[in-house]
Amino acid sequence: MKIKKNDIVTVISGKDKGKSGKVLKVFPKKQTVIVEKINFIKRHTRPTRKVQQGGILQKEAPIHISKVMLICNKCGKKTKVKIERHSGQPVRICKKCKEMIDAK
Ligand SMILES: [Zn+2]
Repeated sequence: MKIKKNDIVTVISGKDKGKSGKVLKVFPKKQTVIVEKINFIKRHTRPTRKVQQGGILQKEAPIHISKVMLICNKCGKKTKVKIERHSGQPVRICKKCKEMIDAK
């Protein structure tokens, strides 16, 4: 996965195009991510005996990684990443500024 938890991504297609947010969760098998405040779905909840009031619950739905682009934490641009190995560890390299994205 080229996108990891806590990355900042921007949406490049769909109804949330142009918005950006923090990645809260990644699903490598499905190649989807959950991004904070992106792709909200409304779910109607029915009143039950315990909860008298029904209502609308808003929740983020997973979005496919092809619809988001990483924002580099070094140059601040949306970018593609290249994976390189440095002393055996895969690191992500920003294609725009050539910096290591994971380096703190
Ligand atoms: Zn960069």
